Amino acid sequence: MIAEARVVQAADEVLPRVIDAAIEVIANNTDLLGDLDRAIGDGDHGVNMLRGFSAIAAQRDELAALPLPAVLEAMGKILVMNVGGASGPLYGSLLMAMGKAGGSIDAGVAAVKKRGKSDRGEKTMLDVLIPVQIAWADACKECLPLVQALERVKQAAKDGLESTRPLKATKGRAAFLGERSIGHLDPGAYSSFLLVDAICGAYSKDEP
Ligand code: ADP
Ligand code: MG
Repeated sequence: MIAEARVVQAADEVLPRVIDAAIEVIANNTDLLGDLDRAIGDGDHGVNMLRGFSAIAAQRDELAALPLPAVLEAMGKILVMNVGGASGPLYGSLLMAMGKAGGSIDAGVAAVKKRGKSDRGEKTMLDVLIPVQIAWADACKECLPLVQALERVKQAAKDGLESTRPLKATKGRAAFLGERSIGHLDPGAYSSFLLVDAICGAYSKDEP
């Protein structure tokens, strides 16, 4: 079955697994995200994300029982309320806007751009999220089966993350470093890559 229809159809059965995968990947990479943020920011990105996803974990069963748009919106609210730093309102905006628009990645990315006054090429999470958005749209247009579409999305997230290394940060705390931000991966791009990769993995599992 083509990707878009399959995600909607599979939502309810897969959702608990997707939520767990997101919680797990943040818990397993807290130190790494902190180290990346220590290099070009203030070092709190790992604990910020852990705080948010621990709050999501505390409500896991209630969340897993909701339909996809409602889960996204509820998770976005939890992140806004629990994550300090720039990333909380940004990830919160992403998920709340996606939820309000029935799961649309386009709506989510537009909300991050608006909230962050930022775009691709500024060494932020958008350097992962925008390529992911494009890869998903292309895969849907080509009517790819779900597993192939998810592979494309995972690759786009990986390439997007790597694309942040040579960039000079012009948004967020890393922008204070100017040229010295060059040569480092962006921590928010890294957490976006991890989440996209884990979520795609959870959706692919058991797919033909
Ligand atoms: P803070 O920068 O307040 O310490 P975090 O460390 O949790 O917050 O998050 C930093 C990440 O947030 C950055 O690596 C970047 O990806 C993202 N970010 C910061 N500002 C913006 C922005 N204006 N637009 C998009 N993403 C941003
Ligand atoms: Mg920080």
